[in-house]
Amino acid sequence: MRITDLNREGGIGSNSLLVEAGEFNFVVDAGLHPKMVGMAAVPEFEHIGDRQIDFVIVTHCHLDHIGSLPVLLQKHPKARVFMSLPSQMLVERMLHNSCNVMKRQKEEKRIPEYPLFTHEDIEQIADRFEPLKYKTPLSLTKNGETIEITLFQAGHVAGAGGFQIDHAGKSVFFTGDILFDDQRVIGGARFPHARKFDAMVIETTRGETERPEGKSRDSEITRLLETIRETIRGGGSVLIPVFALGRMQELLSLINAARKDGRLPRCPVFGAGLGLDIADYFDQITKRTQLINYTRKVTKELRLKRPPRKLTPGKEPPEPGIFILSSGMLVERTPSYQLASTLLAHTRNAICFVGYCDPDTPGGKLLETRPGRTFLFEVLDYQCPVLAKVERFEMSGHADREEILEFALAAKPETIVLTHGDPGARDWFSKALEADDHPVRVIDPAPLQAVEI
Ligand SMILES: [Zn+2]
Ligand SMILES: [Zn+2]
Repeated sequence: MRITDLNREGGIGSNSLLVEAGEFNFVVDAGLHPKMVGMAAVPEFEHIGDRQIDFVIVTHCHLDHIGSLPVLLQKHPKARVFMSLPSQMLVERMLHNSCNVMKRQKEEKRIPEYPLFTHEDIEQIADRFEPLKYKTPLSLTKNGETIEITLFQAGHVAGAGGFQIDHAGKSVFFTGDILFDDQRVIGGARFPHARKFDAMVIETTRGETERPEGKSRDSEITRLLETIRETIRGGGSVLIPVFALGRMQELLSLINAARKDGRLPRCPVFGAGLGLDIADYFDQITKRTQLINYTRKVTKELRLKRPPRKLTPGKEPPEPGIFILSSGMLVERTPSYQLASTLLAHTRNAICFVGYCDPDTPGGKLLETRPGRTFLFEVLDYQCPVLAKVERFEMSGHADREEILEFALAAKPETIVLTHGDPGARDWFSKALEADDHPVRVIDPAPLQAVEI
């Protein structure tokens, strides 16, 4: 089997792998780079050349995995597209939103090639999406050769899947993005355990993150709830910036439960945007598949309010409360960015980060700014001292590096391929894997260089 990383930038970026297995060619994910724009954000699909792609496997619906799917599928009209049923229920909504964002960016940032696809393009590819059941192998035959695909629940986010490929007597496992811990809305990864694989392709997101002694998801949730409670009691507001898919519904569910059991006082809760729409899809997924646990009841019980439309930097919103808004990294011109500009200059407020923040985003920069120092909201042309409490809580949607290491080594593979991680994160995995007693060949593939596994 040959694997080529089509993500031209390396790192996390626009995830996409080309896999050649005998008669079969397939692609794993077709993402869009969150920090790049225009065609530079798209994987190097030209590299596929005139190979015929038989199928595409979508691991989950975050944009760094699906954002360029319509571009790929237009070039490969015969490719079948496999994903879990929850992913199939979410993928169109996510792509339509991405199309809207690109249309806006075309004007704001003057990117002539945007949108990379239209709403009609999405509709045209939608009937090619085929759901795969978890733990149920699918066999495909071509020119007398057989390949088998088996999807396994990966935690991380609703619909996420890792998968096993069996071909020509070899068995290879691709983790996709993983979380082993159970969350409120979705159970953790249910990967095959202690089964021998010839090779593994693993994500390495948290390779540079050491979990501090004594910190666990539960203890971090407790700390978050304490911060919210104290802030609300002091008359302030709390902003929790979240990703629309996954984090938002997890936080709504968590806050609702904490209010019911008395860990949080009653106060207004505000939410808006794509995340609320996704919450409605989660309601349908819960009813149809029982693979997740989120119903409309949560939003109803919370009496979720829309944040005020007009917000002025430096001026606190008229009604204090808990604001659960995207984007998770305070990206410019998003609801969380706007709201942060109203809260930051007042000591009684708190901004609580619960997920990964890229250091180049406003969220990443705010986390690096010391209390009392000045922070600039560039596109609002507003700056103020950091007086609100700014904290981060370790509630990542990705597994700890040690857990992934343990899972990978338990399968006793000959080869491990590293994906989905910054260079430092990949280095940590390389060193840790090579230090193990079990001899394993570790490959950190350079973009567009085929590796044999
Ligand atoms: Zn993801
Ligand atoms: Zn990802």
